[in-house]
Amino acid sequence: MSIEIVRAEQFARLSSQPLDVLVIGGGIVGAGVARDAAMRGLRTGLVEKHDLAFGTSGRSSRLLHGGLRYLAQGRLGLVWAANREKMTLHRIAPHLAEPLAFLFPTYRGTPWPRWQLRIGVKLYDLLCGRRNLGRSATLGQSEVKKLLPGIRSNDLTGAVRYFDGLTNDARLVLDTLSSARRYGANIINYTAFEEAHRDGPAWRCAACDAFTGQRHLLTTRSIVNAAGPWAAGLPQSRLRLRLTKGVHLVVDRKRLPLPSAVVMTERSRILFGIPWGERVILGTTDTDYEGPPESVAVNAADIEYILNVVNASFPSASLNSSDVMHTWAGLRPLLAAGHGGPSDISRAHRIDMPEPGWFDVAGGKLTTYRLIAEHVVDRLARQLRRKLPRCRTGDEPLLAFGESTGESTPSGIVPPPVRADVVEHFCRREWAVHLDDVMIRRTSWHYYRADADAIAPQVADWMASFFGWDAPQKEAELTRYLHH
Ligand SMILES: Cc1cc2nc3c(=O)[nH]c(=O)nc-3n(C[C@H](O)[C@H](O)[C@H](O)COP(=O)(O)OP(=O)(O)OC[C@H]3O[C@@H](n4cnc5c(N)ncnc54)[C@H](O)[C@@H]3O)c2cc1C
Repeated sequence: MSIEIVRAEQFARLSSQPLDVLVIGGGIVGAGVARDAAMRGLRTGLVEKHDLAFGTSGRSSRLLHGGLRYLAQGRLGLVWAANREKMTLHRIAPHLAEPLAFLFPTYRGTPWPRWQLRIGVKLYDLLCGRRNLGRSATLGQSEVKKLLPGIRSNDLTGAVRYFDGLTNDARLVLDTLSSARRYGANIINYTAFEEAHRDGPAWRCAACDAFTGQRHLLTTRSIVNAAGPWAAGLPQSRLRLRLTKGVHLVVDRKRLPLPSAVVMTERSRILFGIPWGERVILGTTDTDYEGPPESVAVNAADIEYILNVVNASFPSASLNSSDVMHTWAGLRPLLAAGHGGPSDISRAHRIDMPEPGWFDVAGGKLTTYRLIAEHVVDRLARQLRRKLPRCRTGDEPLLAFGESTGESTPSGIVPPPVRADVVEHFCRREWAVHLDDVMIRRTSWHYYRADADAIAPQVADWMASFFGWDAPQKEAELTRYLHH
């Protein structure tokens, strides 16, 4: 299959007629807006500068959660909305939403006393409309020691248990976009939005194809800036963002055999240990970041910080940097309001229209993306003076009947088997064009598999025969992947 021909067809479709809405950014917010807009009958296009889910939406903690922490900050509205969305995602995307029990051990003399958490988790259940994914509970000291062998026992008073959900962030983006495409949305990755100017009721835009360097012109009646950490840098944007970096580490579950997710505290901050198949995800940090979003990276201090917190909670684990199999770093595109520490900034979303037909979207969480998108499309309808059908994204399953995510197992949370037909599916059906698209975002093999570097040449071979890469192209793809 020739990438050039496929992309030429995609661009022809995108620019053949004026769009109702052009979405900038193929993260979870852009994907959600594209799905909702297309489902309600708007002519929708989406351009993504890198790969789909390249940004924050492929580098999160992978949780669908109301945010127990926000409860402690008194943000009941945010917790209620996020908890409701968590339940909605379990309904529309059960393959990407697994109930996950969290144990939150409590200690004497910390800012998280057990009596307070006991009330907190009950309130948390209530904020799910009493139908959380499991019932919260309070546990005694000996039960906690039995459930979490190796847990620090000094001053341990017990624990609370509550439920949230585990997802696969990049797959959530991709399946949302596949659904958008089924409703007619045109989606193109490796295409950067460059500029736009208003011409009467329309916007004339230019976007650049990273493969050919060619500029494509398109016309649209509205634009949604869903560029996440990049959003403030777009020409018409009036956003002011504060970017904070969050780092995750992946370790072998044999080194930290967690039966459920665990909350670990460091002063008023909380970190998670999240079981993920044969691995455990540890994170996250929350530090201010300045610099180009593309350059965000994990450094030795980030690793040391997380390992120190984990070792303080599980002293016998004695994890060190050689236990770290993989890492990722993401940026929270938070609204720059107020001062305070990074962890205090509101995670609520905001939609602004600085010019007629240009919408800036910022803030929010992976968990609340569907709701953000609904609000955006409602605003679009008013602006376009169109009476649109009501939003149905919370009712319709993400996958069409019988559709799978490219492998035989129904869950999209743990990686699929390494097979030629699986790789071909991602190239043919899910916009994968580079080796790292498959290794990192379509499958998570890069983060999950101890032999990721060894399987990469095999995956490159399969992609080479699909796309007709010659030997130098294949080599270039391997170098690009190893560089990532
Ligand atoms: C460390 C960390 C952990 C998190 N954990 C969770 C969690 O467990 N649960 C949860 O609910 N939320 C979590 N979040 C929050 C959540 O991940 C983000 O709110 C969400 O992913 C933001 O999505 P987005 O679409 O706005 O941005 P992004 O995913 O960054 O998407 C923006 C996209 O725009 C593209 N783009 C930029 N410029 C252009 C251009 N000129 N033209 C075209 N495209 C462009 C980028 O390449 C990018 O792909 C976490 C965030 C971080 C950082």
